[in-house]
Amino acid sequence: MKTDHKPSAHREVSPLDGRRGTLFILSAPSGAGKTTLCQALRERFPALKYSVSATTRPPRKGEREGVDYFFVSRDTFCERLEKGGWAEWAEVYGNFYGTSAAFLDRALAAGEDVLLDIDVQGTRQILRLYPDCVTIFIMPPSIDALRRRLENRGTDSPEVIAKRLVSAREEMAQKGLYRHVVVNDRLSDALAELTRLVAAYGGR
Ligand code: 5GP
Repeated sequence: MKTDHKPSAHREVSPLDGRRGTLFILSAPSGAGKTTLCQALRERFPALKYSVSATTRPPRKGEREGVDYFFVSRDTFCERLEKGGWAEWAEVYGNFYGTSAAFLDRALAAGEDVLLDIDVQGTRQILRLYPDCVTIFIMPPSIDALRRRLENRGTDSPEVIAKRLVSAREEMAQKGLYRHVVVNDRLSDALAELTRLVAAYGGR
């Protein structure tokens, strides 16, 4: 589990060129291809620091502690919440998710670009703290296409798929919150557009 550490020497170090890092937020309804796009983006921009969220949900097959998430208990999550340890947090499908405030402050102050993969609720909170952040919403081409993707993925029951589609509609209705919207019809096109966007903001 990750805890807030004492401020490291890093924290006091200003970036040499005085540039604060750029904060990128990627959000998408489940099944819109965000995980794949996020991974591809990280490969293209090795200097982009991925913020590993904490979650109270159990790990899925293949997920690694500290790589995909920090898996924490509800008690630990709530203790850190009381101490102001989360820059943002949200409850998604009955589980808590949070972004470490200390990680974010330190990385941006040191001039590093950071990528957050968070939902719409979290984006609203981050926008209050970091109004200049670059928000990107990944859209499926249509609700029907999303339904087909979720069905073909074969990981969810029809009830869970129905729930995900309801949330997808709700999230898609809030896409106006985001500075950029990328439609993921063909993965290669969506990745090319995302790459252009991140590069345009100086991503390295
Ligand atoms: P999953 O459990 O499928 O990995 O993620 C479920 C949802 O939670 C996704 O929409 C993902 O973007 C969102 N999520 C993951 N980490 C965070 C976080 O730290 N904060 C917020 N607000 N949402 C998160």
